[in-house]
Amino acid sequence: VSVSSPNAIDASALKVTKTSKPMELVPKDKLVFGRTFADHMLEVDWDSKKGWRAPVIRPFGDLSVSPAASVLHYALECFEGMKAYKDASGCVRLFRPALNMARFNHSLARMYMPAVDGPTFLSLLRELLLLDEHWIPEGDGYSLYIRPTAISTTRYLGVGAPEEVKLYCITSPVGPYYATGFKPISLWADTHHVRAWEGGTGDAKVGANYAIAIMPQMLAAQHGCSQVLWMNRDTASGAYNLTEVGSMNLFVLIKDAVTGRPQLITAPLTRADVLPGVTRASILELAESMDGVDVKEACLSLQDVAKASAEGRLMEIFGAGTAAVVAPVNSIKYADESGTVKTVNVPSGGDAGPTAKKLWATITDIQYGRVDHPWSVKL
Ligand code: PMP
Repeated sequence: VSVSSPNAIDASALKVTKTSKPMELVPKDKLVFGRTFADHMLEVDWDSKKGWRAPVIRPFGDLSVSPAASVLHYALECFEGMKAYKDASGCVRLFRPALNMARFNHSLARMYMPAVDGPTFLSLLRELLLLDEHWIPEGDGYSLYIRPTAISTTRYLGVGAPEEVKLYCITSPVGPYYATGFKPISLWADTHHVRAWEGGTGDAKVGANYAIAIMPQMLAAQHGCSQVLWMNRDTASGAYNLTEVGSMNLFVLIKDAVTGRPQLITAPLTRADVLPGVTRASILELAESMDGVDVKEACLSLQDVAKASAEGRLMEIFGAGTAAVVAPVNSIKYADESGTVKTVNVPSGGDAGPTAKKLWATITDIQYGRVDHPWSVKL
């Protein structure tokens, strides 16, 4: 089933209202992720009878929605996360934005919201970014985080299809994730809480997935770990299959038990319990052409990783996502069947392993236009 809209967004109808009170730029060294916002936002309203209204760019500011709006009760919401990068010549670049648009539409469809034409949305985003171009911080590791969002503003307490939707986009300048070298993360492998399951919404970027992840994240912190290692238990075998880490995809580099060849493994997308990350897709494609590494989308369990570690076959573990590109993992803690806490240490330890480093360098070179590559799209 999908939503039919009476019309499509008309980018030529865009109305721009510039701010009369530009906000003061926050010094680059004071930027905290997600706390500072640029001057303007994009907004497009939709309703099931009239379809999309004219798009608006207006000063960043509060929304007015009914307290009965179904986003506030039933989490009818989805979003995207992408970045704009300034290259050395001051040119603004996006990284594989078509993949974000495809994923946004997948999430919108899952929330039974109307589809958004990718190129049309990107042309509106371009206008927003040109207007707020001075909000894109320059320099290695700096970027403007972009947050396209869709909420159901339908005034209805029934659990029903959205009749009114607000599509909007805000942006936020961010500093380098690694200002002083890689900072490896420790993981708490949570055997109680499940983030996503086969047939669930793990493959969509819907707010509800993140709401349910916060309490387990606090639990991980109580265990002295910085992120949750999300797993799905295979009830037949008892295997805890690894899915994601925090809000990143997970990669494990392990020597094959038979051939001894390094294999870079990430969970498959076939069960809909993993978000199809843009970074994940990029790493899979780049690693295909790396020498001495086989690439596999396959289920790998906590038990497999513990066994590989005991046999000296575990090489690297890292998360992958837009925020950090790669986030090296130094250890995994978990409670075994008797409740005893065990730790798997990752040999690359206090730093990123060579594979994670190489992938990070290749991807950031593309994002900042230091090498020419079709994945980097100039504004
Ligand atoms: N998994 C989850 C749950 C996420 O929220 C994200 C961030 N969007 C990712 C993976 C990584 O996706 P991407 O590489 O597109 O940022």
